[in-house]
Amino acid sequence: MHFVGLSRWPRSSRPRRIRLAVALLVVSFVTTSGLALAPRAEAAPWSRGKARVGKRRLTRDLKALFRQVPKTELHMHLGGSTPIKILRDFHVENGTPRRKVRKQTRIAPVFRSLNDFLKTYYRVAIDQSPSQMERAAEALVKEVAKENVRYVEIRSSITGKKGTEPKEIAAAIERGMKKGAAWVKKKKGWDMGMSFIVLGQRHKSPAESLQAAKLAVELAKQPGSLVGGFDLAGSESDHNVDKHRAALEYIRDHGQKNGVKLTIHAGEVENSEHLSGLQSMWHALAYKPDRIGHITQAYKDPKLMKALRDQGVHGELNPWSNVQLKSVRDYEHYPLRQFLAAGLSLSLSTDNRTISSIDLTKQLGQLYQHRQIMSWQEIKKLTLDGISAGFASQAERDRVTAEVQAEFARIESDPRHKRTISKYLTP
Ligand SMILES: [Zn+2]
Repeated sequence: MHFVGLSRWPRSSRPRRIRLAVALLVVSFVTTSGLALAPRAEAAPWSRGKARVGKRRLTRDLKALFRQVPKTELHMHLGGSTPIKILRDFHVENGTPRRKVRKQTRIAPVFRSLNDFLKTYYRVAIDQSPSQMERAAEALVKEVAKENVRYVEIRSSITGKKGTEPKEIAAAIERGMKKGAAWVKKKKGWDMGMSFIVLGQRHKSPAESLQAAKLAVELAKQPGSLVGGFDLAGSESDHNVDKHRAALEYIRDHGQKNGVKLTIHAGEVENSEHLSGLQSMWHALAYKPDRIGHITQAYKDPKLMKALRDQGVHGELNPWSNVQLKSVRDYEHYPLRQFLAAGLSLSLSTDNRTISSIDLTKQLGQLYQHRQIMSWQEIKKLTLDGISAGFASQAERDRVTAEVQAEFARIESDPRHKRTISKYLTP
């Protein structure tokens, strides 16, 4: 901002009253606009770039409330979500000279394209040994607990890593998750609900995805296993889901009775020369998945929305990831309002929290600011739907649901949060 005229008045001769008035004006602007004053680490990705008309202000009270909200995180890739400090350690351990680690792990706040994102992903989230994956999983469970995530699912591929047995990788990740949960229990006093999802990848061969599906079922049979699901991830526009029919039918036929449920990445991209996001979703739906990752494009087809609701397919939403990677034009065009109005089962996730510079608390703030989330009831629904749709056992999910309900009641009876909910989140 620029104060016309004052610059022509020599600073030394400005009357004291005017200087005081200017100082007050600046303070008042900064306070009411919600700008600056916060430490640099607090700066959120969406706060960069041009301001949008009608964007709501995120008050200090709202930020405090959003941090406290008990949350679920169903859609999170281990590689892209491992805390950056741990990834930097891995670079050093894997031979990157210390002076180059910062540059090698630098993440831009905005990506120009999906390819740009993927380049960053593979540069930062390097291939890891089983013991590194164990540490990554442990750190990630601790990280999400800091923002009160009560139920978490981590997904990762376990096949195709040279020189390492897939079962060894799965065991390492599960060990890490359990260590993380033990830390949460000790530090915070509650039990983290958890499940692990084995990934099949669309760009790999059908034989490889079938191998991953069989492994998921075999691992889930072992006592104490955290494996609860199988996911088909990767480029939906270049690799039709039908290419992996064998893996998906294997999960359909053998998964349910062995505690392995199915989710598929679909509806993430708007279009490509091969397949639209909508076609991709119809193809995915034919395999009767329990959940679909993203579902972003579904709002364009009322029949598809109805099919998702009627078949009880849960939508794992990743709004910031979709905005960042241009699945939707911007936050104003993200279809959360349509999904809520259609009565779908929904939850919020981050996809790749480290590479996308996001967490669930910041994302809740973004959704509030852009009028995507309008009420406290919607926030509760998004958490509770996430637990219901989780891949852990029913008994485990019932336990987490009861604890989360108690946590919501505690928040609602806190005078500060009560005021915030009534002022900002009551339609
Ligand atoms: Zn994903």
